[in-house]
Amino acid sequence: MYQQTVSIRDLPADRQHPEVDGPEQLSGLEHLALRTRTKLRSRDLIVQKYGGSSVADAAAIKRVARRIAETREAGHPLVVVVSAMGDTTDELLDLAVSLSPKPPAGELDTLLTTGERISVTLLAIALADLGVPSRTFSGKKAGLITDGIHGKAHIVNVDPHHIRACLKREEVAIVAGFQGKGLKKREVTTLGRGGSDITAVALAAALGAGMCEIYTDVDGVYTADPRIVPRARKIDVISNEEMLELAASGSKVLHARCLEYARRFGVPIHVRSSFNRALGTLILPSKDQEAEWDHKPVWERAPAVEQPLVSAVLCDESVAKLTVLGVADGVGKSAEIFGLLADADVQVDMVVQNTSSARAGGSDISLAVPSRDGFRVRAALSAAQGAIGFVDLQYDGQIGKLSLVGLGMRTDAQVFSRLFKALSDAGVEIELISASDMRIDVVIRAAVLEDAGRAVRLAFGLDHAGEGATTTP
Ligand code: ADP
Ligand code: ASP
Ligand code: MG
Repeated sequence: MYQQTVSIRDLPADRQHPEVDGPEQLSGLEHLALRTRTKLRSRDLIVQKYGGSSVADAAAIKRVARRIAETREAGHPLVVVVSAMGDTTDELLDLAVSLSPKPPAGELDTLLTTGERISVTLLAIALADLGVPSRTFSGKKAGLITDGIHGKAHIVNVDPHHIRACLKREEVAIVAGFQGKGLKKREVTTLGRGGSDITAVALAAALGAGMCEIYTDVDGVYTADPRIVPRARKIDVISNEEMLELAASGSKVLHARCLEYARRFGVPIHVRSSFNRALGTLILPSKDQEAEWDHKPVWERAPAVEQPLVSAVLCDESVAKLTVLGVADGVGKSAEIFGLLADADVQVDMVVQNTSSARAGGSDISLAVPSRDGFRVRAALSAAQGAIGFVDLQYDGQIGKLSLVGLGMRTDAQVFSRLFKALSDAGVEIELISASDMRIDVVIRAAVLEDAGRAVRLAFGLDHAGEGATTTP
């Protein structure tokens, strides 16, 4: 079935999708994904989100406008969420910091939201030129209510009645991403960097959209960042749970919070390129919600038949290893150490406890922590050395984390043996390891991280055999 190809022209007319004018011959999975897409009824609402690179200049905005016009012509009511053009948000941020090292949080949020306000209006102008009626919305007008925390607000409610009215008038609703109105003070708040993805999924959930399409500058979600690993392979279908693990392991293509939101509300997501018509990656909602979801047969068939068990390998250099040597024997010592780390707001990734080489009867505790927190952790633990009673503290910043993401991995012994064999064949020594059902993390020397990533991807058949990935520009 995987090798089976089908011409789009062979599909019944109601299954053909006007947007798909890419390759004529589709693989089995692409066919499956296409069918899933075309299961959308012609009047189903689609939420489309265009990232910064997709609206970076006038030509890009025109291309987006044409795409919107086509989707609308196909009969879909449309809500479009846009990010700021290109690097606008970074530039605004740099400008603010050049004026004050710590700009007032409220002013900073007001400043940053202007980036998205520019892109929505430019897109409305481009749509008007094509004769497509549209209306622009700030986050506030779109009804996105947040907890009011500047710079990293969470959405607490969505009241999209203005958008519904706009859709009723058959206009395209264009919403500025990454922003909302604080619940109490009604101030403008931003959702955190990359937050337009969250805006899109939140609106898709509130409006009951059939699909949330995330348009970006790569063809979909790959087994590794295609800009760093050109031979990475595109994933056709992936579950929300797996995608969350990918995001947690450092894949930046989708915001982790947007995936959590999509899982909670059962929103299917299609990550695809705004620079071509190829099908991208379909992220199916949680398995728990499959019963409520129209596209159940795809969930049942795709991962079991087509998905490899392991879907991605990620390499992360931004971790450090900390070893607390010779922790005195006694109940509650680990609790003291972890209590201290929690108070310092440090996210501990992996923990390994061994019999101590530094103190008889004691233990050595090794942890992987984000390297940006390294200094704080060392300072907090050193200050408590006497109270906790450990012999020494070792800090190692020259390590990296390799993560394997997939489904049901812990229960498949083959995965472990293949991973260890690949690493030992490549001469890589494992320092720490942790495993969950969907993820195996190993800590190794940073110097061999790249080689190890390549060896493991090869061992699991995750590299593309032919051409490299399509990235734009
Ligand atoms: P946008 O501006 O459209 O929101 P982002 O920069 O947030 O785009 O996300 C797209 C980028 O994510 C790609 O250019 C790619 O380099 C990066 N990326 C990181 N990991 C992956 C992955 N596993 N698959 C695809 N892209 C990835
Ligand atoms: N413009 C914002 C950022 O760059 C939000 C987004 O692009 O999603 O972080
Ligand atoms: Mg993004």
